[in-house]
Amino acid sequence: MNQEIIKFNEIRANSAISALQKNGFSAEYLPSKEQALDRLLELIDKNAVVGCGGSLTLRQIGIIEALTERGNKVIHHAHPDLSPEQLLELRREELLTDVFLTSTNALSLNGELVNIDGVGNRVAAMTFGPKQVICVVGINKLTTNLEAACERAKNIAAPLNALRFSLNTPCTKLGRCVDCDSPERLCRATIIINRQPSQTPTTVLIVGESLGY
Ligand code: SF4
Repeated sequence: MNQEIIKFNEIRANSAISALQKNGFSAEYLPSKEQALDRLLELIDKNAVVGCGGSLTLRQIGIIEALTERGNKVIHHAHPDLSPEQLLELRREELLTDVFLTSTNALSLNGELVNIDGVGNRVAAMTFGPKQVICVVGINKLTTNLEAACERAKNIAAPLNALRFSLNTPCTKLGRCVDCDSPERLCRATIIINRQPSQTPTTVLIVGESLGY
């Protein structure tokens, strides 16, 4: 990555961090995913029970393996062999953990988080349930304003996630959202978090690398 891009990423991240702090969140910038991993391990207590959404970002960072190796109990539902009933139960358990780890579909430079969810467990956990939320955001998810954040969530993140989960939806063929009525529609709840939810301390870690969708 050249110096201008590194500097530009840092400038954008710092703008978002100031706005997030004004909106009541804790926020930090970590230039690399290795530094993000180290910071996550510092922020999460060794005895904490940790819940994880289906985030690709978290898997790219390697935090699930690192926490498990350290002895933290980690609850997540990315187990291919479980029954639908078992997956649902794990999603419920994730809601009542000490720390819930997630990413976000988009983060505006005004400090707003935008997410689209199908089951709804992730957007639920981001607003109420866990004692604490930590949200890890790759620099590719920063947008200039709320409108661009909604656009990113709808026309970039959702179609990419539909592809990731091999859904039979129009966006996987067209490369954009057409607000479908597909039975496999991923987009069932869209949430904008404008301020830190009053009962959910939330830390946003912005990483200076492209991560997740
Ligand atoms: S509403 Fe349908 S077409 Fe639009 S992104 Fe969601 S699944 Fe794809």
